This record gives sequence, structure tokens and C-alpha cells, in this order.
Amino acid sequence: MSSLGFQVLYHLLNRRKTIVAERVFLPEPREESLLLEGGRGLGSLESRSPLSRFDLVAFSLPFENDYPGVLKILEAGRIPLLAGERDESDPFVLGGGITTFLNPEPLSPFFDFFLLGEAEPILDRFLEVFREVLHSGGSRREILRILARRVPSLYVPSLYRVTYNEDGTLRSREPVEPGIPERIPVVRSHPLQAPVSTSAILTPDTPFGDRVLVELGRGCGRSCRFCAAGYVYRPPRTHPESRLRRAVDTALEKSRRLGLLSAAVSDTPGIERLTARILEKGGTFSVSSVRADSLTPVLLDHLKASGQKTLAFAPEAGSERLRRVINKHLSEEEILRAVRLAAGRGGFGLRLYLMIGLPTETREDLEAIRDLVKAIKHHVVKESSTRGRIGKIHLSVNCFVPKAFTPFQWFPMEQVETLKEKQKWLKKVLLREGGVTVHFDVPRWAYVQALLSMGDRRVGSILRKVHEAGGDWRKALRYSDINPDFFVYRPKGLEELLPWDFIDHGIRREHLRKEYELALEARESETCRVGECRRCGVCPR
Ligand code: SF4
Repeated sequence: MSSLGFQVLYHLLNRRKTIVAERVFLPEPREESLLLEGGRGLGSLESRSPLSRFDLVAFSLPFENDYPGVLKILEAGRIPLLAGERDESDPFVLGGGITTFLNPEPLSPFFDFFLLGEAEPILDRFLEVFREVLHSGGSRREILRILARRVPSLYVPSLYRVTYNEDGTLRSREPVEPGIPERIPVVRSHPLQAPVSTSAILTPDTPFGDRVLVELGRGCGRSCRFCAAGYVYRPPRTHPESRLRRAVDTALEKSRRLGLLSAAVSDTPGIERLTARILEKGGTFSVSSVRADSLTPVLLDHLKASGQKTLAFAPEAGSERLRRVINKHLSEEEILRAVRLAAGRGGFGLRLYLMIGLPTETREDLEAIRDLVKAIKHHVVKESSTRGRIGKIHLSVNCFVPKAFTPFQWFPMEQVETLKEKQKWLKKVLLREGGVTVHFDVPRWAYVQALLSMGDRRVGSILRKVHEAGGDWRKALRYSDINPDFFVYRPKGLEELLPWDFIDHGIRREHLRKEYELALEARESETCRVGECRRCGVCPR
């Protein structure tokens, strides 16, 4: 329930008089026996109705590692795992969430359809058609056909035929019958029309459950080349300040604690006035991270007054060169300025997000991470000297995973063994610095994430094996007929048909390709200038 997207969907569905939406969660192992009541299978939280009795079972999938949970829920809900094995008595299974509109293909054997893109602009149309056809007496196949024809952004995987070249790359994908769209357009919320999303349910059983989440805006105009959200939520949209003020006032009536959400909270126009208002009204707020180059002393003071103890920045890379490769638009001086402000003014602890395995990364780039951390520590110590207490520095070092619809979609992931060696070296040099703690992600899990991000529909058979092996990825990969390295370690051809190419986000392929080439030259490109720029194809001419 900590996902605002999930909460928004729950609210949008239940505000309709003709629909009752209930929640279902994968039970914790210790709760399984309670929830899998009397052989009826997994039931809903609200009415304990068996999952298999619903007309529609919808999954919101923000992360690839949620995929095995889908299969577990289907099985526990007594719903056939494969879409092709369901009959008229089974619910339809719908997928949504950012992973599905990046690349739904590895999940395609298990889903009847996906609603691609943001839910708000398309949900009403989908529900209207779905309701109409559900009780029309048509077969399951007919219902799927009608939905695919009449609901923009709805993708029915079983209505497409995919063929492969001898080398394993995709040769073609075509609708199996006339009238089914070749490409699926993604519809976006209009920034000025969409209401500000806030969380509707507060529960102590989840992270951030004590605060109302308020979405300040969607998308990010900084154009980082590795960042999928920065591409598929284009153009960047922020709600007008007057609307945010009203949303904050209403949210404060529910809870004195707010969580402000945006890809870059400190970039939000009028953010200082908004946070001042929250404090004046007796509330407090927190933010997940800030851009180092848009952090201001006033915002820091407001964060301090709100009780926030740690500030998170994302330099992503250690060297200026590699930050240009990823189009970060952030200099070392800007990072250190933010560090001085945070350590000096607020005595904040720091959390820094970094990546290893980025395209073109060299030994010098790794050494630059060490040097950047040393410089950061130096400034933290200096700025904290009058306070007598030195703020902690926590590093979170993650492996780069290529994502669809970014300029880095053509790059492979770095070999797991190489990533492990890099982690080992960094651990050795960084832990010499007192006051610095480091968390590394697990390269093997990054590999799994890359497989699920970059795979085509054949990867569904691996997911099935993982499920049958009780979640044991190692075993499933060992006995798979599909070579997972093909999807993870192979650089893709710039002309190659990619598994997600049928989704139309409005981003021109030539734009991604140009950004890819600029990355290889370590050259930055412009950030978004909505209203003035037409570069990527998303903003109307
Ligand atoms: S057209 Fe320009 S401003 Fe619009 S989303 Fe693309 S890069 Fe950003």
C-alpha cells in the first residue's frame, strides 16, 4: 500500500458506483494458512471473496522483481497461470504499471491484456467497454478482440504472432487478424486537467503508512540517459502551484505528515512557498531525494524544521566524464556545494546514490567514485566542525541495468563477475574512510532484473520455471532451454527489432539513437524545455 499508483487506481475504481474493487496481497509465508482459507484459494482483503470469482484481476507492477509474485498469486487464487488455458469461468487478468509499459513481453503468456501507460486518462474508457462486452455473451476470444480494437493503449499479447531470425533476434511481430492495431499508442494525462494524486489509505503496515503522499508532478525534464521514468513519463509535468496548495491543505486534514513525491522535488516551481505553507499549518513533510543543483538554503531549513535527518542526492557517477555520458547535468562543484549546504546548515546525514557498470565505464571512473567520496567527506567534516558532530555518509551503489525506451536500451549489462570485482575494490577503498557506510546491490539480482527488462516473450518460460522451482532462479536458469545471457549480455543492433518496439510512447527512435551516439562521445544534450522544444517527438508541433 506504499505505492501511490496502486492507491490512485483503487480510488479511481471505487469511486464508480457500478464497481467494487478489493485488494489482494501475496500473503507472507507465516500468514498463508490464514488466507488460503478452506481450499477456496486466495481471497480479497475486504470481503474475503475468492480471487477466481472476480470478473477482473488487475496487477500493478512497478518493479520487475514483482513478476514471480504474479504467478504465485494466480496459483493461490486458483486461476490458470497461462492466459491460453483460461476459459469463460475464469477472471480476465490485467497488467499495468511502469514495467509493463516499458516491456510487457516476458509477462505476456500470463496476462490476458495490459493497459499500457498512465491509468488516469484511459481507465474510464477501458471500464466502459469491458463492462459492455463482459455480459454480451461473447466468447473470451471475442471479448479480447473487441477490447483490442476499441480501447487505445490496451495490448492483448495473444493477438500477435512473433517470429524469430536464426540468430535468435526478432524477425517480425504482427497482429493475427485484421483490425488489431500493429502499434499500441500510450495515452498521457494532461498536466492541467489531472487532479493531484494523494494517498487515500493510511496504514501502519507499510512504509510511509503514517503520511499522506502528494504527487507534485510526473516525469522529469533532466533527460538522464539511463532513466526509463524520465523517458516514458514525458513530457515532464508539474501541477500549478495553486492546485498543489489546495491538495496540500486537504492532505493536512488527514495527517500532519506529508510525503512529497516527484522525480526531482527540488525542481518543482514554488517548492519553497509550498513547504513554508505546510509548516505554517502545523504540518511536516519529507522528500525521498533532491537534486544537488536545485537544493536551496530555504528548502533545507524547511526540511530541518520537518525533522528530516538525512538528505539523499544522486551523483550516479564519480567522474565528470561519466556524468556527461549519462547526461546528468551535474558538476562536481554543484555536488560539493550541496554537501556543504546540507552539512553546514542542517547537520544532515547524506545518502548518495551511485551506479557501477555504466556504459563506457573505465577504471578511472571507479577511482573517481573514491575521490568524490573523499572530497564529500572532507567537506562534511569541515562544515560540521563547529557543531562537534559529524553527519554520516551512506553510499548506495547499484549495478546499471539497461531499460527499454532509453538511449541505453542497446547496451548490454556488464558481466556479473566484473561487477563483483568492482564492488570488491570499491568496498576496500571506501571502507578505509571512517564515517562512510556502503550498501551494494546483488549483481545476480541485477542480472535477473535485466533479463526481465530486456527479454522477449520467450522469457515467460523462464518465469514459469522459476515458479515451479519455488523461486529458485539459479535452478530455473540452469535448466532453461532459453539462454538468458542472450538478453542480458548481448549488445543490440541499432536496426534490430526490439521486443517493445510495438509500444508507441511518441519518442522517436532516431532521437534515442542520437542520444546513444552522444553518450559514446561523452557529450551532453539539452534538458527538456517544454513549449519550446520538439526534439524527442513527444511534445506536439
Ligand atoms: S519534445 Fe523536448 S521538451 Fe518535450 S518531452 Fe521531448 S525533449 Fe522534453
